[in-house]
Amino acid sequence: MDRTQLNRSTWLTVLFQFGANLIFPPTCAGCGRAGAALCDACAQAVEPAPSTICSHCGRMQFIAVPLCSLCAREDDPPLTWTRAAALHTHPLREAIHQFKYRNQPELAEPLSRYLVAIFQQPPWTEITHTIDGCVPVPLHPKRLAERGYNQAALLAASFAERVRLPVTEAWLSRNRETTSQATLTADQRRQNIAGAFSTSTAVKGKRILVIDDVTTTGATLTACAYALRGAGAAAVYGMALATPLLATRQDPHQMAG
Ligand SMILES: [Zn+2]
Ligand SMILES: [Zn+2]
Repeated sequence: MDRTQLNRSTWLTVLFQFGANLIFPPTCAGCGRAGAALCDACAQAVEPAPSTICSHCGRMQFIAVPLCSLCAREDDPPLTWTRAAALHTHPLREAIHQFKYRNQPELAEPLSRYLVAIFQQPPWTEITHTIDGCVPVPLHPKRLAERGYNQAALLAASFAERVRLPVTEAWLSRNRETTSQATLTADQRRQNIAGAFSTSTAVKGKRILVIDDVTTTGATLTACAYALRGAGAAAVYGMALATPLLATRQDPHQMAG
C-alpha cells in the first residue's frame, strides 16, 4: 500500500465517521453522555500539564529541572524543546483511548484545541513564524493498516489548520518500531534509531514541529528528532497532547513511549 492509498484510507475513515454521526449522534468520550464527542464539562475538566518536565525531551521529572539525565548526556539535545498540553488523567485519558483504540477519529478536532492553546503561549510564540512544517509521529505501516488512521496525523492536521501551518507528513516515515533507549549512551541511541525512520531530503535546513498524542519518556519524540536532525533539519520541536503524571518514584526510563 503506497502513501497515497494510506492517506485515502484515513480520509475515507473520517468521511464514514461523519456520515455515521448524522445517524447516530456521538456520545462524550470522557463521560458517555449523548450529544458531543467531548462534552463541555469534560473539555473543561482537562488538567494542564505540570511544568516539571525536561524542557528538551518533555520527560516528566519529579522536580523542576531544565534537563533530564538523558538530555544532560547530549552536547546538542536533538529536541530544542518539548511541551505537553495536558495531563493524561480523566477525562482526557478516556478520550484519548476512544480516539486511538475505539475508532473515533472525529475526536481529533476537539482534542487538537489543547495543542492550539499551548501554541499560543510562550515559548511557542517566539518561534511561531519560523516553523516550516508539522510532522506527526508516524505509525508503522502495519499498525496504520490495522487502525485505519494515524491518530497523531489527525491531531497534527486539525492543529495545523487552526494555526495555519503546513502539515508535512511525508518528511518522516517509520520503518520499524523503536525499542527503549533509556540505558543507552547518546551514540548508542543514535545507532539504535538508525533505520527505524526514513526522512525526506526536504527536511534539510527546515525547522520542524513533531506532534504526538501521548509522550511518557520522550523517547519517541527524541527518536524522531534524531532522524530529522540527522537528515539536516535545522531545529526540531516536540508537542504532545498529553503526558502522564508519574505517581510513584518508579524509574520513568523504563516506561514506554
Ligand atoms: Zn463528558
Ligand atoms: Zn530530556
